[in-house]
Parts: sequence; C-alpha cells; structure tokens
Amino acid sequence: MRGGIIINERVKDLMNKFPIVDAHYDILVDVTKKRAQGKTKVIEREYLNEFRESGVNIIVCSIFLDSIYVPEMALRQALNQINALYLEIEESPEDLMLCRSYDDITKALDNNKIGFLLSFEGVEPLGNDINLLKIFYELGVRLVGLVWSRRNYAGDGSSFTTDHRGTGSGLTEFGKELVKRAEKLGMIIDVSHLNDEGFWDVMKIAKNPVIASHSNCRELCKQMRNLRDEQIQSLASTGGVIGMNTCSKFVSNKEEDKNYKTLVNHIDYIVKLIGIEYVGFGFDFCDFLRENKKSEVFDVLDSYKELPLFVEELVNRGYSDEDIKKIVGDNFLNVFKKVLNK
Ligand SMILES: [Zn+2]
Repeated sequence: MRGGIIINERVKDLMNKFPIVDAHYDILVDVTKKRAQGKTKVIEREYLNEFRESGVNIIVCSIFLDSIYVPEMALRQALNQINALYLEIEESPEDLMLCRSYDDITKALDNNKIGFLLSFEGVEPLGNDINLLKIFYELGVRLVGLVWSRRNYAGDGSSFTTDHRGTGSGLTEFGKELVKRAEKLGMIIDVSHLNDEGFWDVMKIAKNPVIASHSNCRELCKQMRNLRDEQIQSLASTGGVIGMNTCSKFVSNKEEDKNYKTLVNHIDYIVKLIGIEYVGFGFDFCDFLRENKKSEVFDVLDSYKELPLFVEELVNRGYSDEDIKKIVGDNFLNVFKKVLNK
C-alpha cells in the first residue's frame, strides 16, 4: 500500500452499502498454482480479508491460459482452474460461492458471500470443438471472452501496442457460430482483447448486451487493447458495460499520468460520451502475478486495498451516490440480470 489510506466516512459507507462488482480477475492463475503446491483455502487465507475490507461482492474469475499451454494443454489447464475454484468454495462455504445465475448473485449479496462467476479469457479450451461450449456452460462458465491477445480458432486478439499490428482478421466461422451458441445458452459475450475487426463482427451477430470486461478508452490512451469511441457507443447500444482496467499500459501513454486519477478520467469520458449506465470495474489486477516487481507495467491501484481512493476520487468529482452505485456494481449487475437467467 502506498502510505496509509485515510478514508472519509462517506466513502466507507458507500462501499459497504452498494454491491461492488469486478468483471475481470485472474485470481485462478495464482490459486491453481498454489493448490498444485499443496496449499488449501488459498482464497480464504490470502484474499478474503482484502475482499471484505474493500467491500467487493461479485468477482468474475477469468480462465486465463499462459501461451505455453496453448494449444495442447489448454483444456486441461481450464479444467484445473475450474476445479481449483470448486475446491476453494467447498473449503470455505461460509464465505465463497459460485454464481451460475442472477438468482445466485442475489443469494451471494443477501448472504454476504463473495460470489464468483467464471469467464473464458480466450476459448482455447474448446479447441475447434464447439460442442464443448455446452460442457463449460454446465461447469458454470457464464462469460465468454472470445480471445486473449493472440489468435485462436475463434478470431484474432489485439496487440499490446499503440498501432495496429498482426493479421487484422475478424471472427472465423467458428467464432461467429460460437457467439450465436453462447448467447443462446445464456452466456455473456466479452470483447476485451478482440481486435477491431473481430469486435465489429461480434456486433453484427450479437443480440444481447455485449461487455468489454477490462478495456479503457483509446481516445485517452492510444492502445489497441482500448476501445475507440464508435466501439464504446456500439457496446452501449446493446446495453453492454465497459469495465475499467487498472493496468498502467492501458491508462495513459504518458509515464507521469499512469495513476488512478487518470483512470477516473476514462470513466468521465465514457459518462460524457454515452451516459452513466455503461461503465463499471474490470480491474484486471496483475501485480500479484508479476515476477518483476519493478516492472514498467503495473496496476494503478494496489489491488482492492486502494479501491477506497478510487471511489473517493469519484466522490470528489461530484458523482452522486446514485451514480456511484451504478459505476461500482449496478451497471454490471444489470447485464448479468438481463442475460444470465434466460
Ligand atoms: Zn486480459
């Protein structure tokens, strides 16, 4: 933590009373690794305090696959990560639960449990077998990020660069069929990491709200991982939401502006462009996974511990309590409500 955080009572109160949703967290990479080393109750022992103190309620756990596992080990790794979450929940039933529906999310909120949703971050675990989608649905996966920043059978990922690199292909036929089937099953399509061509292919097909779980504004930070204004407007027209990403690389191109206040500028920008209903959190905290702690790439918030600073900045910029309620959770909850219980 960067120095002690003194939080005013109003911020504390808001964070306690409003549901907080994080639409993207790679926690399972760490949990699966530690369980393989023989540890148990990893979330309860190492994460729960922070969750409780920050007041986060609903967390989307991505199934992220390091490129060294692709393609052969992708399915196994995905199953291992899902299994790790199941076991963690079994070991800490008082505090954690898996959410397969909006009713489950409501249950988690009512019973003061941390509710986890499962999400693909790239559909490599399916290989080119679309029938496996239904199996993963049965296992509890409810969000489908079609690609990570690489190519797979569904489409092409965006590069981590300021200019367009790579092949520039859109969705494959497999990718298009996947969007249709996922929506039919009641899964949410997530366009974060897709390249621009794939993005527009999704928008032609999708019928339900489409989200970008962890992407910022390209107008404020030139980065292919961020969204152009037309893309933000298009997502909003579906009723989708954009989750703000704390990765410094996506916050600003200027070193001196890589901080959480600049990330709040991205919220301001989206609110001005399309309204308050379309922005949320997808923090994508990764500092805990970075081996090089002095990396140039870092999270502009020090995990959930610094979330109060972020909320305080929203308060300072004049957002009303109702506005803040939407940003910290309600906007994503609305999407979950619309899509998951179909
Ligand atoms: Zn990501």
